[in-house]
Amino acid sequence: MSYKLPSDEEVADAVRMAISRRGVVNSQRRLAELVLKELKSTDPDFSVTEERVRRIAIDRGIVKVNIIARDSEKKTASNECPVCGVKMKRIRNLTVYGGSINLGYRCSRCGYWTGLTNRRPIRYIFSKK
Ligand SMILES: [Zn+2]
Repeated sequence: MSYKLPSDEEVADAVRMAISRRGVVNSQRRLAELVLKELKSTDPDFSVTEERVRRIAIDRGIVKVNIIARDSEKKTASNECPVCGVKMKRIRNLTVYGGSINLGYRCSRCGYWTGLTNRRPIRYIFSKK
């Protein structure tokens, strides 16, 4: 079977259609299925990954995302947001000595946050913005 990759704009349009029909979509897999259905109505050969749908939906500001995450034992290794890919800001706490300590990171775009041990996203709930 042949497949084609839709443009970011085509994916974004399909996300807009899917989310305005449903209002709330309670998993990333479900959102990707709905988006793919929209895309296939334009071209049956279109294919898209769940992650690409998530990133475009957040990047274009089409959806509000509610992230359910679980604590892991691993140290947070990077300040890149695992949900949407932007650089996250440090969460700092001022100390009584005038310095500050790093408590973790927060993403200003999608709202994901983590402490110094990693919170792993396990589920996403998307709603219309
Ligand atoms: Zn993010």
